[in-house]
Amino acid sequence: MYLIKNVLASISRKIDLKYYISKKLNLSLNTIDNIKILRRSIDARKKNNLKYNFTISASIHGKIPQHPDITEYKPPEPYLESKKQIFDLHPFIIGAGPAGLFAALSLVEKGFKPYIFDRGDEIEKRTKKVTKFWEKGLLDEESNVQFGEGGAGTFSDGKLTTRTRDFYTEKIIDYLVKFGADKKIKYEALPHLGTDGIKKIVINIRNFLEEKGCKFFWKHKLQDIQIQNGKIASVNINKQTYNPEILILAIGNSARDTFEMLSQKISLENKPFAVGVRIEHLQDYINQAFYGEKTDFTITGPASYRLTAKSKNRGIYSFCMCPGGYIIPASSEKDSLVLNGMSFKDRNNKYANSAIVVTVNESDYGKQILAGIEFQRKIERKCFLPKNPYFAPVQKVNDFLKGKTSENKIRSSYVPGILPKKLNELLPEQISKNLKFGLKIFDKRIPGFIKEGILLAPETRTSSPIRILRNKETFEALEVSNLYPIGEGSGYSGGIISSAVDGYKLGQIFKF
Ligand SMILES: Cc1cc2nc3c(=O)[nH]c(=O)nc-3n(C[C@H](O)[C@H](O)[C@H](O)COP(=O)(O)OP(=O)(O)OC[C@H]3O[C@@H](n4cnc5c(N)ncnc54)[C@H](O)[C@@H]3O)c2cc1C
Repeated sequence: MYLIKNVLASISRKIDLKYYISKKLNLSLNTIDNIKILRRSIDARKKNNLKYNFTISASIHGKIPQHPDITEYKPPEPYLESKKQIFDLHPFIIGAGPAGLFAALSLVEKGFKPYIFDRGDEIEKRTKKVTKFWEKGLLDEESNVQFGEGGAGTFSDGKLTTRTRDFYTEKIIDYLVKFGADKKIKYEALPHLGTDGIKKIVINIRNFLEEKGCKFFWKHKLQDIQIQNGKIASVNINKQTYNPEILILAIGNSARDTFEMLSQKISLENKPFAVGVRIEHLQDYINQAFYGEKTDFTITGPASYRLTAKSKNRGIYSFCMCPGGYIIPASSEKDSLVLNGMSFKDRNNKYANSAIVVTVNESDYGKQILAGIEFQRKIERKCFLPKNPYFAPVQKVNDFLKGKTSENKIRSSYVPGILPKKLNELLPEQISKNLKFGLKIFDKRIPGFIKEGILLAPETRTSSPIRILRNKETFEALEVSNLYPIGEGSGYSGGIISSAVDGYKLGQIFKF
C-alpha cells in the first residue's frame, strides 16, 4: 500500500478519486485500486475556486512513480503494553467527560467493569438544568455546561481537533463512529459532531458501558482522598467512604474545589493558559472572506478560520471557532460569567464565533499553585453584571480599539442578553492591550474582521490552569502509586479528542 498526499480535486458531491490520482501520478487507471481516503481538507487559497486536498492510501500495480507525494503506507500501530495487574473488577473513575468515558471503554476491553462517578447529572437531566440556566439564570453549581455526563464538551461545537493521528486517536474515532458519529469524521481534516451529535453518542456509550457491567453514579462528588504509604487508602464521595484499588481522576479543568482539596494532598503545579473574549461575525461575512460567494456552501459547510499572532512573549490566537454557532454562558460558579461556543451538527445559525485569547503565566498571576484559578475567577466575577445576571458585556471591535462604549443596537447569538460595556475596564490591562494588538493583525489578514465584529467577555476556561504531576509512562501521580490523573484536568491534554485518547491509553496499561 502507498500513501499519496496532495491529491487535489474540484469540490463536488461525487469525486472520481482514481481519475485524480492517475492524473497526479501519470498512471493508467487500471493500475490503481483499494483506494481509501485518510484525510480530506479544503484548500481555500483561491477564493471561489476551492479544491479538496486528499491524502489517500491505495494499491498501485506495476512500476511505482518517483514523486515526492508518494511513500509506502504503514498503518499506525499500538505501542502501549498491558503491564500493570490489578485485581479489583471495579476501578473507580471520577468524571464522565471524554477522558473518564474512554478510560472506561478501554478498561472494559480489558475485562474490567469500572464504577464511574460524576458530580453532575446524566445528559437528559443536565440538559434541562442547562436550559433553565440559559433561559432563567438559575445555575446548578454541580450540574451545568462544565459538569455532568459527557463533560465540558457536551454543549459544544464538538470539534474533533487532533494534532496527530496515531493508533489511539484512530481508536477514539472508530468508537465515535460505532456509537453514532458520521463516518466522514474518519477522514475530515476538521471534523465536528455538534452538541446534538455528542449527546446521542454519549448516551449510546452509557448504554454500552452499562450493558458491560459498569455502573454510573450521578450527583456523586469526590470530596476527599486519604493517602497512606504513597497510596490512596480511601476516598470520600458524597460523605461515604470507599477503598478502591485504583482511583482514576478525570475531573476536567473547572473542578476548582477538587483542585483545592488535591493541592493539600498531592503534587500540583500551576500552568500557563489563555484568557480573552469571544468575537462574533455574521457567518456570511466569514464565508465570503474565506471561500468566496461562488462557493456551494451546501457541500463545503460554513467556513472557519484559525488565526495567530505574537507580541513580545505572548501568543494571541483564535480558539474553538464555531461556524454557524452560538455564544453560550458556561458558568459553573454563581455570580460569575464564563462564555464559550456551541453549535449543532448542521452549523446553520447565521453567526460565527470564536475565542480570541492571550496567553497568561505566572508573571500575570503569581507563583502559588491555585493562583491561575484566582486570576480566572476575578475576571469572571468582574464580567458578571448583577443587575442583569448572566447578560454578557459587549462592545463592537472598533469601539474596543477606540475605548468607546458601543451604542445599544448590537445583535448577537447570545441568548440571555447583552449590555454594551467598555471591555478594557473588565479585563486585565495586559489582556486588553494584547487583544488590540492581535485584532489589528487579524484585520490585515481578513479585511473587515474589525469593522464587522463584536466582542463579548470573558473567555477564561481555554485549558486547565493546573497540572497534576504524573509519571509520563505509568500515568501514576507523583508519590501516589494508585492515583491516575488523566484528561484536561491533569493538565496533560486539551480538547475532546486528546482527553479521550489520554483516558483510553490509561486503560490499555492495565491487565486483570
Ligand atoms: C462550551 C464548551 C465548548 C467546547 N468545545 C470544544 C470543541 O468543540 N472541541 C474540543 O475539542 N473541545 C471543546 N471544549 C473543551 C472540551 O470539552 C474539554 O477539553 C474536554 O471535555 C475535556 O475532557 P475531560 O474528560 O478531561 O474533562 P471534562 O469534560 O471537563 O469532564 C470532567 C468531568 O468530571 C466531573 N467532575 C469534576 N470534579 C468532580 C468531582 N470532584 N467528583 C465527581 N465528578 C467530578 C465533571 O462533572 C465533568 O463531567 C469545549 C468546552 C466547553 C466548556
